[in-house]
Parts: sequence; structure tokens; C-alpha cells
Amino acid sequence: MTDIKSMTIEELSDLVVSLGHKPFRAKQIYSWLHEHLVTSYDEMTNLPGTLREKLKEYPVTVLEAVEIQTSRLDGTQKYLFRLNDGNVIESVLMHYKHGNSVCISSQVGCRMGCRFCASTIGGLTRCLQPSEMLDQIYRIQTLSGERVSNVVVMGTGEPLDNYDNLLRFIHILTEEGGLHISQRNLTVSTCGLVPRIYDLAKEKLQMTLAISLHAPNDEKRRELMPVARKYSMEEILNACRYYFSETGRRITFEYSLVAGVNDGDEDARELAGKIKDINCHVNLIPVNPIRERTYVRSTRQAVENFKIKLEKCGINVTIRREMGSDIDGACGQLRKSYMEKTESEK
Ligand code: SAH
Repeated sequence: MTDIKSMTIEELSDLVVSLGHKPFRAKQIYSWLHEHLVTSYDEMTNLPGTLREKLKEYPVTVLEAVEIQTSRLDGTQKYLFRLNDGNVIESVLMHYKHGNSVCISSQVGCRMGCRFCASTIGGLTRCLQPSEMLDQIYRIQTLSGERVSNVVVMGTGEPLDNYDNLLRFIHILTEEGGLHISQRNLTVSTCGLVPRIYDLAKEKLQMTLAISLHAPNDEKRRELMPVARKYSMEEILNACRYYFSETGRRITFEYSLVAGVNDGDEDARELAGKIKDINCHVNLIPVNPIRERTYVRSTRQAVENFKIKLEKCGINVTIRREMGSDIDGACGQLRKSYMEKTESEK
């Protein structure tokens, strides 16, 4: 591997030694990359020139911001980044009372095929490297001048479909010597790749696992999410029980409400019946309509009603506050509209 920003401190130490330098140099380089967020070796002023020269064979991955949209309503910012190979991805910066949160992408495109999601329409192009996940946060912190305290892996892509890179990303993000973001301030969202949930549980991380449920039973779930044909809700919920038993972390269930599809009283009751024994929290998201599909978002009233029905069954529920609704809407839409624009210019 030559991607220096994806290396752990141990790997960096091995590299520095192999280049004929003292291991303590690794800590300095690591700090420049992951704490000071510099973009070139020339800025690493405490390194000997000979080492800096040798390191130039190990490119520093830096994303280029090609477009930044800022919401006039709440200051939410959407960033469109270009990767070294020309692919583009998007990330979002949101301001909350408890701090600034960045939503990052984990893949270029996605192969999960959820019917309501814009990110999956062109399929999967490739997985992101740990450095490319990290640099979304590093660039946003640098460009905005604001400290990032929370990270959610809820942008384009299925993080558990890029498992090894995700784990490496988590370690570099949360360990000392880098941004050192608390694992408790990190959320990873998955459509429910069951074997990977078990793997993740065994890591005993203190991050939050969010599961995209979106339906109260397998039949309805299969209509919205092709992945539901592979793993049943029962298998997913058992994996969640295991995740809690290993980590003690409460599970978040995401539930996007689609008018007339999954937002009825009976849906709420059925859902509550299945998850009531799990230490969990449900996050309701009125679906963001995308151009390519005909799904309609539930009315404000239907969302409130769904919340009340779940609460009556003893479930913790929140409704996701909408942010940046005046800038390129739902997940993956900024990237898509950019690609369509450049495509038509060709
Ligand atoms: N692949 C992961 C993470 C990315 S999607 C996952 O499936 O969880 C992040 C969340 O946004 C998921 O819950 C996803 O189902 C939801 N989502 C995607 N498109 C949406 C839309 N148009 N409206 C509402 N929620 C959407």
C-alpha cells in the first residue's frame, strides 16, 4: 500500500523504518496528516529533508471541492468532492446545538438498489479508501474553519459493503494522535448486511449502529429494498440483539415514511411488536421524493400519528429534523445533478 493517509500508526512506523529513519518520525507524520490536516510533505517542517523526499513516492490523498452549496435556511453545507480518479462524491456539514456533524459517503455509487434512493441509480462504481472517507471530514473542517465533533456514515454507499476500509477509517478517526473523535459521536448506517453486523459487534466499538428498516415486515421491505430478499427482518433483528449484547450500545432504526406504503396505523403496531424487546430508538424520516421514482412523502400528520402509535407501544421515537431542504434535496442528488450536467456538456 502506498496510500499514506490510509496507514495506521504501526504501518507508518514500519514504513519510516524501512526508509532508514527513526520510528518516532511516524508519529510526527501521522500528526501532520490526521491532526493538522496538511496536504503536502512540504508543510511537515519538522521532518528531515531526506525523509520528505523519499516520502514523495507515497502520495497524500486530498479531495478537491468542486462545488459547495450553503442552505440559506440553516447553514447546512453540501460539498461535492472530486477524487484523484475523477469520480465525484458528496458530503454534508450540519450544525446542531451539540456540535457540528458531517455526513460522509463510503462508496462511489451503491449496489443495494433501495427503490427510493438516488445514490443507487447508477449502481456501484467503486469503494472508497479509508483516506477518501477521512479526507471528506478533513477538507470540510479546513474549508469551513469549523470543528467537526460528530460523524455519520450515511451518505452514498453501503458502509458494510466496504467493511475493511470502514474499520480502518474508524480506527484512524477515533484513535489518539488524529482528530480523536469519540466513538460515541460516530454513527454507521446499514441496510442490514447481517454477517457484517455480527463481525462489527465482535469489534466491540462504542459507535452507534443505525439500521435502515423502513418497513414493518419482510413483504413490504422487499418492495422497497432488494437486500431484504437476502436477509429477513428476523435475521436482522437477531443481529441487532447480538450487537447490543456485545457492545451495550442502543440500536437506531431508521424508518423512511412513504405515503400509503408503510405509514399506516397497522404498520406502526406491527413494527412496535417486532422491536419492543430491543434496546432501541426509532428515527422517522419523511421520504425525500426523487425525480426518478413516484414515491410520495407522508403528510406531517401521518408522521406525527406514526410517532404517537409507536410511543404508545413504549418505543422511543424521534422525527428527523430536515436540514438544508433548499439545497439539492435527498441523498445523492447533488452528485447526480452534477453528473447529469457534465454529461450533457460533453
Ligand atoms: N447504505 C446505508 C447508508 C446510506 S443511506 C443504509 O442503507 O443505511 C442513509 C439513510 O438514508 C438510509 O436509511 C436510507 O435508507 C435513507 N434514504 C436514502 N434515500 C432516501 C430518501 N430519498 N428519502 C429518505 N431517506 C432516504
